[in-house]
Formats: sequence, C-alpha cells, structure tokens
Amino acid sequence: MPSVIKLVTAVAMRKQKFARFSRENVFIRDSYTCQYCGFHGNYKELTLDHVLPASKGGPKSWDNIVTACGPCNTKKADKTIREARMKLLREPYQPKWTPKIAVKLKDLDPVAWNNYVTY
Ligand SMILES: [Zn+2]
Repeated sequence: MPSVIKLVTAVAMRKQKFARFSRENVFIRDSYTCQYCGFHGNYKELTLDHVLPASKGGPKSWDNIVTACGPCNTKKADKTIREARMKLLREPYQPKWTPKIAVKLKDLDPVAWNNYVTY
C-alpha cells in the first residue's frame, strides 16, 4: 500500500469556520507547551487547565482553557491566576483553522506524510 496518494480531482471539504474544541486541539493551539512555565511535552505529559476555575464559574471554552504541565496544574489547582501568583505566556483564544492544519502525525505514521501536513 502506498504511503502517499495523489488525487486527480479536488475533494470538497466542509467549511469549518473555527476549530472544534477538544483536548488535542487545545494542545495544538498551544504548541504542546505549558502556558504557565513553557514546558514542552507530549499528550501524556500535559493537561488542560481552567484559567478561571470551574468552581468559580469558568467555562470549558477556548478562551478559558489552556495547556498546562502536571506541576503547574497542581500548583494552580482551584485558584485564579492572581491567587496562584502565576502568569500566562499567552492569553487563550479561539483559533481559526481548517481541519487539515489540526493534523498531528503519530510516531508510526510514514515519514513521507511530513511533506503534506502543517502543524
Ligand atoms: Zn508548567
């Protein structure tokens, strides 16, 4: 089976104005980087953090969820940024992506796919 195929006709893709909110898409938006300390990790090493804690009415939304490493998530816990005396590297936002941009290759995917995927 070939690792790459060339389409001879255009494939219509459903227009999607905004990226779907998901754990992996938040990690992609944040470049798999803890938004508090800058730790760059993988899917298993990172968590999602409510900037305004859910217990204080913080929604699970693009503008209130950031990527965090375990230690930062534990340190911040159920506190606001000010209460935890922490700072965000970048304010969270709702990204505008097309689905193909949100593709992240896995370790076992063919190397040739790197030429066709944008992170
Ligand atoms: Zn961190």
